[in-house]
Amino acid sequence: MRILVVEDERKVAAFICTGLEDETYSVEVVPDGVSGEEAARRGVYDLIVLDLMLPGRDGVEVCRNLRAAGVRTPVLMLTARTALQEKVAGLDSGADDYLTKPFAFEEFLARVRALLRRGPRADVLPLRCADLVLDRARLRVRRHGRDIQLTHREFVLLEYLVRHPGQVISREELAEQVWGHEIDSGSNVIDVTVSHLRGKVDRGPGPQLIRTARGHGYVLRHDEDP
Ligand code: CA
Repeated sequence: MRILVVEDERKVAAFICTGLEDETYSVEVVPDGVSGEEAARRGVYDLIVLDLMLPGRDGVEVCRNLRAAGVRTPVLMLTARTALQEKVAGLDSGADDYLTKPFAFEEFLARVRALLRRGPRADVLPLRCADLVLDRARLRVRRHGRDIQLTHREFVLLEYLVRHPGQVISREELAEQVWGHEIDSGSNVIDVTVSHLRGKVDRGPGPQLIRTARGHGYVLRHDEDP
């Protein structure tokens, strides 16, 4: 289980990190909202522990952005304030639970376990790129008003590209994020899967969405591209 901890107070971060590692969780700590959001968008975590008051971008904004981008990872928000308004703002932004600092590690751990048991949220909006719609709750894709059948791997690959529109995604990144290092970045499995995906997604009218960045990897057409 991989947990991302976004916390700028070193002592609190170390306290959480040590405790979680003792419970054999794999933990990554980032100290500000901007890099926290960036890391969380990679979507490789099972849980995000998000401090409310952060430099750069506060926890509420980070959480709102993540949910808007379709990131379903459960979020446990940490707040130093007891004001009800703060808790409501946190939950409204899409956090799943909150804990007021200071807290006992046992209580924190109980909430972490509960959120991990619950798993990713199902109530997320579909992801969109141009006229392509990814319904992650039903693992369904639609384009030009027709349903497209994808294999699970094709869906994961497409979802990763849609989450990073306009960015060149390297073969190394795809091997890690889509195949979890089961394959080598030089493997032709990547080319074959992309080719199948293109055959399904870029068939018919409309601009070609999945493009090759020769020698670098692949890029999903951005809405603003010509
Ligand atoms: Ca803080």
